[in-house]
Amino acid sequence: MSATDRPVVFRNGLVLTMDDAHTVLPGADVLVIGGRIAQVGVGLTAPDDALEIDATDGILMPGMVDTHRHLWQTAMRGYGADWTLTQYFVWYYLESGRLFRPEDVYAGNLLGAIEAIDAGVTTTVDWSHGLQTPEHADAAVDALEAVDGRFVLAYGNIQQGPWEWATSPEFRDFHRRRVDGGKLAGFQLAFDVTGDPAFPERAAFEVARELGVAVTTHAGVWGATNDDGIRLMHENGFMNPSTVYVHAATLTQDSYNRIAATGGSVSVSTESEQSAGQGYPPTWQLRHHDIPVSLSMDTSVWWSGDLFSAMRSTLGADRSREHLEAHAKQETITHCHLRAEQVVEWATRGGARALGMDATIGALTPGRQADVVLIKNDASPAMFPILNPHGHVVFQAQRADVHTVLVGGRVVKRDGRLVGVDLAAARAAVASTIDHLRETMGEEAWQRGMNPDVPETAILENPYQYTEWDAGSAQWKH
Ligand SMILES: [Zn+2]
Repeated sequence: MSATDRPVVFRNGLVLTMDDAHTVLPGADVLVIGGRIAQVGVGLTAPDDALEIDATDGILMPGMVDTHRHLWQTAMRGYGADWTLTQYFVWYYLESGRLFRPEDVYAGNLLGAIEAIDAGVTTTVDWSHGLQTPEHADAAVDALEAVDGRFVLAYGNIQQGPWEWATSPEFRDFHRRRVDGGKLAGFQLAFDVTGDPAFPERAAFEVARELGVAVTTHAGVWGATNDDGIRLMHENGFMNPSTVYVHAATLTQDSYNRIAATGGSVSVSTESEQSAGQGYPPTWQLRHHDIPVSLSMDTSVWWSGDLFSAMRSTLGADRSREHLEAHAKQETITHCHLRAEQVVEWATRGGARALGMDATIGALTPGRQADVVLIKNDASPAMFPILNPHGHVVFQAQRADVHTVLVGGRVVKRDGRLVGVDLAAARAAVASTIDHLRETMGEEAWQRGMNPDVPETAILENPYQYTEWDAGSAQWKH
């Protein structure tokens, strides 16, 4: 990404620096020069040619980081709202995922990438497991390169074993062509470890090691991956600080100990874990093992791609679990352990650390890349008063309150409007993907996929009769 040359200065905002001390500066300015944060403080002097943005009554925070999102699935936004994980697997892995052509991966990635920056998510890991051919992979990268955000491509292919695609000459050729010297902010290998005692995934881990890239893996997913996968990775020496464990929800203490001891981090997708059934969102466990956390949205086939939802649901799920565990012991939680401030840290620094990018993004401190989000909406009654700034970001703000976004000093959204983005073209591309899927599947299968059967709800026996109060006789009627 090339930064614009024009300096930018935000004036008079409430600045959440997310530096090591989580310094909050009221009425402060953020000065951006040459694509980097030059200074943060009150009453800064800016160059004459600086673009001045009024941040009064707004919150300035670092761009958010999403460490796990299947951008290609954005083409089917909302289709799976009533799915379980089983239905998701059947649709994408077994029945219809193969229908995606390279142009369909492009369409989903393009809309998803635009959605990310619109919501202030300036860095996104595209957990791209629909790369059936090198043409699909090229299409994925073409879309990411067309949008001015930071995108890490996590290369995957659910139609083959990782030991097949990761060792193929086509994959090596792709890596040489598109990753070295390309525009991507990073590159990972994305695959899951099934727990097969023969550990066929070894070959893919060896490729990652040889290329010097991180592995990201869906771990601790009920019914899919479990402690055996973690144990095999650990026993074979493939767990390291760059490893990202997605979900890590259904695991024993032994697995958490192995993750903690090898320095990896967990990407928590709370909304996903709550709806799809990978396991209870694990932050309440991870806190006890001191395992680093980042946040993610997983897929827009169910949920929207903004981290406000992720922060809010993560804080709620953690507290919900803490209350539930206490009530089971007839105890009362009087003080919450998890704070809003911590969740904002996970959405910014936590993501930066997980991706090995903590020196360059994740905080508003001099020298870092200027990935800046201004949350400000003078028309919204929910943006006043701002008393508890971290709490405001987590529980009050929404994506529509994202006023201005900078990526590397470049203005990609201003006054609530995307800048330099052809949203109409992205919509048209997605529309033709939907036409293709509907026509190929047939209308009945398309509708059936979106509307899974509802299991019958058992109505429990009630010892009380349904009754009605009779005011005349002042008695219950039977
Ligand atoms: Zn996922």
